[in-house]
Amino acid sequence: MENFAILKEEKNEFQCTVSDILFFKGIGLHTGKESSVVVKPAKANSGITFIRKDIKPDVIIKADAGNICSTTLRTSIGKNGGCISTVEHLMSALWGAGIDNAQVEVYGDEIPAMDGSARVFYEAFYESGIKELNKRRRYIEILKQVVVADNADNAGISIAIYPSDDFEISYIMDFNHPAVASGSFNMKIDGFNFYKEISHARTFGFLKDVEYLKKNGLALGGSLDNALVLDETSVLNKEGLRYKDEFIRHKVLDLIGDLYLSGYRIKGRVVAKKTGHDINSKLVKKLNGFLNNSKLSDRTPAENKKPQAVPNAGAAPQFA
Ligand code: ZN
Repeated sequence: MENFAILKEEKNEFQCTVSDILFFKGIGLHTGKESSVVVKPAKANSGITFIRKDIKPDVIIKADAGNICSTTLRTSIGKNGGCISTVEHLMSALWGAGIDNAQVEVYGDEIPAMDGSARVFYEAFYESGIKELNKRRRYIEILKQVVVADNADNAGISIAIYPSDDFEISYIMDFNHPAVASGSFNMKIDGFNFYKEISHARTFGFLKDVEYLKKNGLALGGSLDNALVLDETSVLNKEGLRYKDEFIRHKVLDLIGDLYLSGYRIKGRVVAKKTGHDINSKLVKKLNGFLNNSKLSDRTPAENKKPQAVPNAGAAPQFA
């Protein structure tokens, strides 16, 4: 069978974990319930593992596409009756901070929304220090384009990933709302520009949908403190936007978190048109299917090239 994606070791980069134990507490965006999260260091090659600690016995849920159990307005993962909702902002922050391995203990069934972006998580990871491990980092390398299109309602929703030596995202958004700038966002993304250009973008919702969502048990914790809220014509948050195209940047933030449920960082160019969690997860599942058909092969090291620090470690962002 022809393969479109393989797993490769990067000779010049090492896997990382958090160097300290970190705590987060807050309200879940959808459940409206308080939950807390403890992020602990984990050994190389263990990946990101979530554990529901508030139910007995503990439910261990690997951050893996195979464990995605819901993609309605957020990405949830679950196993053996235990579910954790809205993992995408935390996953995005873990990606941004260069963390390959961590144990994420959750007391509750949803990751706290914090301010609706990934910034709080990212800053905590970064400030506590990122610890390099002694195993090389593994990437998914795209060999040939992989496309997923949602033709169900003819809305032009699609996502594709093409071969690249970097991780690049082009996101095309087309919202019919006067306060939401449609257009595209294109960027080669690394840890530093993730922090600066993406991590601060908040989730968003429309006032007209709130009643329906709440009836369906969603957005129960959503407020002006953790989301951009729009009425028919404008943004209701008094402080305004953090980026002029904050909406599209949040879609990119979500996409990075969803893609990280592949279990690995990716070298590839992603082109996403009007995507959400559902189609993002379809791409991730497809990629993981290809990985199951291939075995880990080593990237040929450049001669005399010494291992460098992880890409994020040298460029300490200034937290404002
Ligand atoms: Zn989001």
